[in-house]
Amino acid sequence: MRKLTQILDVPFDALTMDEAVEKAKVFLGDGKQHYICTPNPEIVMEAQQDARLMEILRKADMVVPDGIGVVWASRYSEIVLKERVAGYDLTQRLFAEIADTPHTVYFFGGAPGVAAAAGRRMKKQYANLKIVGGHNGYFDEEEEKKILADIKKCAPSILLVGLGAPKQEKWIYDHLAETEAKIAIGVGGSFDVMAGNVKRAPKVFRKLGLEWFFRLITQPTRWKRMMRLPKFALTVLKKQKRR
Ligand code: UDP
Repeated sequence: MRKLTQILDVPFDALTMDEAVEKAKVFLGDGKQHYICTPNPEIVMEAQQDARLMEILRKADMVVPDGIGVVWASRYSEIVLKERVAGYDLTQRLFAEIADTPHTVYFFGGAPGVAAAAGRRMKKQYANLKIVGGHNGYFDEEEEKKILADIKKCAPSILLVGLGAPKQEKWIYDHLAETEAKIAIGVGGSFDVMAGNVKRAPKVFRKLGLEWFFRLITQPTRWKRMMRLPKFALTVLKKQKRR
């Protein structure tokens, strides 16, 4: 039975990072297909206006908070979330877990060359990681068919989809069944970080729950998207308290 806490109608699994990794390992071995979503407050807000995105999040097999704002919001919910489980960190942990097993991974998304560069850097870190394929995230309908055929042929255990949210969640929902992947995870801009093109916030920022602030000062073009954060906080205070 899943232990879920609802934040503005998005059901989050009350799991620590270690527990999320364990659950993903169960997914790898149970013979079914699963998808994992890692929404941040921006995506929770987007789902308020996008019924399809909300449905996709509600049907996901695991939903973990990629954002300290979601962890904060859970204080006003049934169960308080213990920690942030960022998509980037979860995939790194999974790489470490599967590197010495027969499990494989496919990198789909990012600008041309990024997935390949990410793959090369990850192979340096996890020598036995089996990356069976990859493709950039810019495609037309024709190209998409080829990408799908390639993913199917490669049959990765884990399909990482980095098309940005919510495009990646919708893509996974529409196409997972056409692939042989056991787990699909929407990973946003993680390939850019894995490739070394974008720096993650220093540990001290992450520890203090200020990764969003670091991203704002290093990628100022994100400010518009971040304007959703205060709106998220206000909506949580208004709606969640009433329960
Ligand atoms: N991207 C892509 N295809 C698209 C749009 C975006 O592959 O059609 C990639 C882009 O190159 C980047 C990632 O998706 O690597 C989006 O990163 P961002 O940090 O914006 O992710 P988010 O915060 O939306 O999860």
